[in-house]
Amino acid sequence: MSNYAWIGLGNMGGPMTANLVAAGHAVKGFDLNEQACEVAAQGGVEIVGSIAEAMDSADAVFTMLPKGQHVRSVYEGESGIWASATEQMLLIDSSTVDIETSRYIHEGSAQRGLNFVDAPVSGGISGAAAGTLAFMLGGEATLMERATEYIAPMSGRTIAAGAASMGIAAKICNNMMLFIDLMASAEGSQLAEKLGLDPKVFWEIASVSSGRSWAQQTWYPVPDIIDTAAANNNFEATFRTDLARKDIGLALDAGESTGVRLPAAALAKDHFDELIGQGLGDKDCSLIVKNLLPDEKV
Ligand code: NAD
Repeated sequence: MSNYAWIGLGNMGGPMTANLVAAGHAVKGFDLNEQACEVAAQGGVEIVGSIAEAMDSADAVFTMLPKGQHVRSVYEGESGIWASATEQMLLIDSSTVDIETSRYIHEGSAQRGLNFVDAPVSGGISGAAAGTLAFMLGGEATLMERATEYIAPMSGRTIAAGAASMGIAAKICNNMMLFIDLMASAEGSQLAEKLGLDPKVFWEIASVSSGRSWAQQTWYPVPDIIDTAAANNNFEATFRTDLARKDIGLALDAGESTGVRLPAAALAKDHFDELIGQGLGDKDCSLIVKNLLPDEKV
């Protein structure tokens, strides 16, 4: 049995910690949001009132927070992770953050003699609940090996991507592909329906044809086709639009700094911005389907 500290018990952190508890581990969790704490407590997490309390006798300290600024803020300061960490603990960030934040946390940890691995995930909340997330790791080889053990109850596959921040580099490229695929599924689904196809029949055809993708299989934005779609639940977020916008922005920033043109990613960004402008940033990102039929309510 290992002791985990977990900071960030939202859509992903909630089910991920439930799997750790189910595997027999002890998890002390901290989140600013009461509702997130209640859900995590139902999954067996011991809710505590500070980062320091969560880290008391922890072997591994996970962060699963929205953006780079949140990760920086929980690492820094008198009551932050760096202040309470010991060199025995393994610090693991599974949030999707910008490359600069990831490098900053790697460097700040190394300067303090602390052990840090970047370990973002893919698989959505359905993968988090099933314990089948793909983890991509960046850091020193021995630390990645240790991290793999702590990650095992939450993961279907853990891959060492390379040196520091290579996990996050892989995640940014992967999510850019995901959101471009999501646009393809949204546009395909609406055109198919307008051409007179039965939505379920078309989804089945795409599933065995070249239109298949993870987004098409898991997030198809039409109600009552697949169980895992937010479309079944009035687009309540499984992956918030503002987080999707963040991720596509990370890819566009990386494209700019490396000189790679990313026209499809830029288009996906515009769709997410449109939703955010309509006050729908907290809804599921598959709601991009809404603006494809401007004259109708989805
Ligand atoms: P979320 O918004 O549901 O959860 C984040 C949680 O962090 C919230 O409960 C919030 O209260 C908490 N939080 C924020 N600041 C905090 C602080 N200072 N101290 C303690 N808690 C704090 O987001 P999520 O969907 O769980 O995503 C988390 C990360 O995982 C993001 O970086 C996201 O991009 C990434 N991700 C999400 C998915 C998905 O499908 N939702 C999939 C893969 C990766």
